[in-house]
Amino acid sequence: MMDPHDLNRRTVLRAALAAGCMMCLPAVGHAQSGKVSKAQAKYQDKPKGNQDCAKCMQFVAADSSCKVVEGKVSPQGWCQLWAAKQG
Ligand code: SF4
Repeated sequence: MMDPHDLNRRTVLRAALAAGCMMCLPAVGHAQSGKVSKAQAKYQDKPKGNQDCAKCMQFVAADSSCKVVEGKVSPQGWCQLWAAKQG
């Protein structure tokens, strides 16, 4: 049989988790697109060293967009979410 204290603790933990999730949404700052803004990603129109959008796995060359950052990005751009393209 379940201890009533465990039930209360679970209820409190669930409520705290739900509140925490609701509070973290604005902090993450995702737009309706599910992407982050250029400012949030610290996007710049120039490369950082040898890292640029064209070499990033998130870059979509077909329309010069990014899978995780809003708007058009330059193939020579860069942001702190840069991740090396595989292969
Ligand atoms: S460097 Fe940043 S903006 Fe450029 S493609 Fe990668 S994730 Fe997108």
